[in-house]
Amino acid sequence: MRKPIIAGNWKCHLTSPEAVALVQQVRKPLDGLEEVEIVVCPPYTSLSAVKNQLASSSMVLGAQDLFWEPQGAFTGEVSAPMLADAGCRYVIVGHSERRRYFGETDETVHRKLLAALAHGLTAIVCIGETLEEREQGKTFDVLTRQIGGALSGDAAQDIARLVLAYEPVWAIGTGRNATPEQVQEAHRFIRERLATLFGTQPAQAVRIQYGGSVTAENARRLLSQPDVDGALVGGASLNADSFVAIVKAAIQNLQSKI
Ligand code: PEP
Repeated sequence: MRKPIIAGNWKCHLTSPEAVALVQQVRKPLDGLEEVEIVVCPPYTSLSAVKNQLASSSMVLGAQDLFWEPQGAFTGEVSAPMLADAGCRYVIVGHSERRRYFGETDETVHRKLLAALAHGLTAIVCIGETLEEREQGKTFDVLTRQIGGALSGDAAQDIARLVLAYEPVWAIGTGRNATPEQVQEAHRFIRERLATLFGTQPAQAVRIQYGGSVTAENARRLLSQPDVDGALVGGASLNADSFVAIVKAAIQNLQSKI
């Protein structure tokens, strides 16, 4: 059985004191819960402060992005060994906001993924179609291209150390989430694609999160789908009560499956 993973993407929000306050609020009710893997991804400037708050907690730290070179004259960039040193276990790669506003391509996502894996980080690789692509019936073509681009070559060997996040662009930060049926259809397609590329067993082991306006209210239904193994949560992760409720929804789903 795949262990569900709920990750909070705090995006470009919160100063260090605010991030510490949020993680303290989240930690209290979630401490000791082992059924679900819980990841928080603050901005770079708060990684260290949040890491200190996570000592002896089962929650783990993630970053929102990385650069593919380990070091060098790349002003403003942060590399995989730096993130590992800061205590990160996870890193988000290829978020649609990075693709859209910062020109990331399947090729840069691939390079970042290789860098993350080479330095022991688990990558949460984001894929998903725009509204226009969905309306033109291109969803599966886009997912096929993004999976192939990100996971080509060497990345294939490390498929077990990846999490995929299906995030339809039209559902991110819009309050308009995909229906559970749309989510399951896309997740099943992604798993089948992984099976074709890497074999059935590795594909069955990979966790696929859904992301896109997940809230305390809709989490249970979205997470109940058979190929949904957790959520990548943006807006709702900035509110401690909502984030805790989403984690608890994942646990309730697990219990009802047993
Ligand atoms: C995200 O940032 O990955 C995301 C899914 O955001 P939101 O939950 O706000 O739609």
